[in-house]
Amino acid sequence: MGKRKKSSRKPAPARRKEPLDTTFTCLFCHHEKSVTVRMDRKEGVAQLVCKVCDQRYQSKVNHLTEPVDIYSEWIDAADAAQREEEAPRRPVASSSRPAPIPASGDSDDDDDDDE
Ligand SMILES: [Zn+2]
Repeated sequence: MGKRKKSSRKPAPARRKEPLDTTFTCLFCHHEKSVTVRMDRKEGVAQLVCKVCDQRYQSKVNHLTEPVDIYSEWIDAADAAQREEEAPRRPVASSSRPAPIPASGDSDDDDDDDE
């Protein structure tokens, strides 16, 4: 019967309140810390805006969403948008696939009338 004492001696962390990063580098104008993410958890929306080139992005948030999540979402969205722009939109060739030839049912119908 041993009461195990977990000696969890953590080194006291430096009590430094690090504010979450809410400023990021802009994808478009590449200015550092020009992008600000404002989160309104009550409303459940986040606004991302670059104060230099005025890029904007809006997204939904929940209580777990961090500003950096919005930022990466923005990157994804911008990335996708760019790819769509770059990719030449070729009309989908109407693929008229050849109809399968139906197995003909011309069975040899030769009765052996051996009588
Ligand atoms: Zn910008």
